[in-house]
Amino acid sequence: MTANLLDYDLEGLAAFCASLGEKRFRATQLFRWIHQKGARDFAQMTDLAKSLREKLEGSARIEGLPVLTQHESADGTIKWLFDVGNGDAVEAVFIPEDDRGTLCVSSQAGCAVGCRFCSTGHQGFSRNLSTGEILAQLWFAEHFLRAHLETHGERVISNVVMMGMGEPLQNYAALVPALRVMLDDHGYGLSRRRVTVSTSGVVPMIDRLGEDCPVALAVSLHAPNDELRDKLVPLNRKYPIAELLDACNRYLEHAPRDFITFEYCMLDGVNDQPEHARQLADLVQRHRGRGVSCKLNLIPFNPFPASGLVRSPQQSVQAFAKILSDAGIVTTVRKTRGDDIDAACGQLAGDVKDRTRVDRRIAQQRTVMLKQVPADTATKEG
Ligand code: SF4
Repeated sequence: MTANLLDYDLEGLAAFCASLGEKRFRATQLFRWIHQKGARDFAQMTDLAKSLREKLEGSARIEGLPVLTQHESADGTIKWLFDVGNGDAVEAVFIPEDDRGTLCVSSQAGCAVGCRFCSTGHQGFSRNLSTGEILAQLWFAEHFLRAHLETHGERVISNVVMMGMGEPLQNYAALVPALRVMLDDHGYGLSRRRVTVSTSGVVPMIDRLGEDCPVALAVSLHAPNDELRDKLVPLNRKYPIAELLDACNRYLEHAPRDFITFEYCMLDGVNDQPEHARQLADLVQRHRGRGVSCKLNLIPFNPFPASGLVRSPQQSVQAFAKILSDAGIVTTVRKTRGDDIDAACGQLAGDVKDRTRVDRRIAQQRTVMLKQVPADTATKEG
């Protein structure tokens, strides 16, 4: 079996090249071809010696993920469903805005955390993605979008959020090399402030991330007290709110931003009442007497049939936001994007929640893909 070079950060690629008897600068060249130019074939890499290209042909490959479907929303949001084998599929979503292009990336097929309001959580967990499978989403999206938007080689994706399917900090070993490639100047060259890991609160791994690869951190809070959070985010039973906030404060000593983003999914009658807002303000401002430097991001819930939950009315969201803002906490309400293609938060792969039907669905989507995805992409990826 040849090595998939998407699995390596630059250090890993240097070690691989060393095993072929090649110097480090060759690894840098190769890395730039793969990530900056989107090369798939070693034959394209004309500045590499022919002898090296021949060695690579025999020992390595650059293999992305087959694209099952691609949907483009009226607002420009694009969602891809990638086949990761054995009936599993993961999604990535591109969200264009005036001043940035954000890619939401998946880290696992399914998720073991099982948050009540999350359609991925309802699917159950299948497996961790490899570094190459995490990066393949960015690699494909960036180079597809450059061609699609005719940017003449200009970068399209300026921000990555690890907020797709899965709990990234439960796939730490694959996550960190992927983050390093995103940040590497020879890779995607993204600033640490523009790469965000979103976690439901895996406390020990928050500490490790702070040491190993501090990027922006978003924490899915969703409740102002343990009693409610235990029900909404089951991981809270292992790492309760006080421990989580302590970890946030330790992380801030390393973080590229001087705040943590707390995500709060607004659920009608569950966590959206004025007393919840007041408790939340109190929690983040008075935790251990000094609070946590943070911003609050209120997320309108995207209902899915099995959840039994309802999106908070807009007046409740506004009233909740006002209590927080009046308390001096920077609070935003997330715009929903890509609603017409089920690309909004918590809806990723909502239609794959019934895992017993995934094989059949993927077979159907392959047929759709052959009709939808440009021939060039379908042949190379699939
Ligand atoms: S919200 Fe995140 S951590 Fe919770 S179940 Fe969904 S993917 Fe997993």
